[in-house]
Amino acid sequence: MSRRRQIYEGKAKILYEGPEPGTLIQYFKDDATAFNAQKKGTIQGKGVINNRISEYVFTRLNHIGVPNHFIRRLNMREQLVRQVEIIPIEVVVRNVAAGSISKRLGIPEGDMLPHTLIEYCYKDDALGDPLVAEEHIRCFGWAGHDEMQDIADMAIRVNDFLCGMFAAINIRLIDFKLEFGRIWDGDFSRVILADEISPDGCRLWDMATGEKLDKDRFRRDLGGEEEAYQEVARRLGLLQDDNGPSEVFDLSKHRKLRGK
Ligand code: 5GP
Repeated sequence: MSRRRQIYEGKAKILYEGPEPGTLIQYFKDDATAFNAQKKGTIQGKGVINNRISEYVFTRLNHIGVPNHFIRRLNMREQLVRQVEIIPIEVVVRNVAAGSISKRLGIPEGDMLPHTLIEYCYKDDALGDPLVAEEHIRCFGWAGHDEMQDIADMAIRVNDFLCGMFAAINIRLIDFKLEFGRIWDGDFSRVILADEISPDGCRLWDMATGEKLDKDRFRRDLGGEEEAYQEVARRLGLLQDDNGPSEVFDLSKHRKLRGK
């Protein structure tokens, strides 16, 4: 029996009606999917870690003036957020070639891009979230010209902030995905950052070893995904650290320490 109304269930999160109008509760699951949900699995404890990491990032983004939906964390797996009208676009920011751009354009993974790239994908599972141009977004009315300007400005600010935040803990931010939504005030709307920022939607490589500390461990069957997510949270100071600081992430050593 459900004690509150479920609004939406996605691959990694569930949205419930919030305690006040205009709010939602965002619940983080341990479920992991890849390749348009063709691959399914579980990353133990992922929901708890992503809830904490996303809280940390969104709170800090709020401090530097990037408006977002986060209100407060409620418990281990849930946070209170503002309800938005989701813009059906995934905004992908890339600093280094990896993943789909490497496949699409034949650019070796790990090549630094000449400058930061923003790409847009239309959010549609049945179509496999196809890459679209800004022209498509405007033509089909998914977002207006001014909204796209705001989205691109915020995406670059988030990238600058995240690059610095991760560099400080010896992690290279390769790329990441953002989602935005509209909030309405009478007849006027503005765009704010929504969804989550966590190792589910970022590529994070250890600066010294190149070790992947993100969902690619699951996508590419590399193993050690639980440890990788924990390592990101630990370096951000969000987990209690029993093993002392480690400058370089050594996955096999880390597994041994944890008895795996
Ligand atoms: P790519 O286009 O190379 O597959 O992904 C680029 C970046 O966006 C990666 O950091 C990836 O994690 C993120 N990304 C793209 N699409 C999705 C998605 O549907 N879900 C999640 N969690 N991340 C995505």
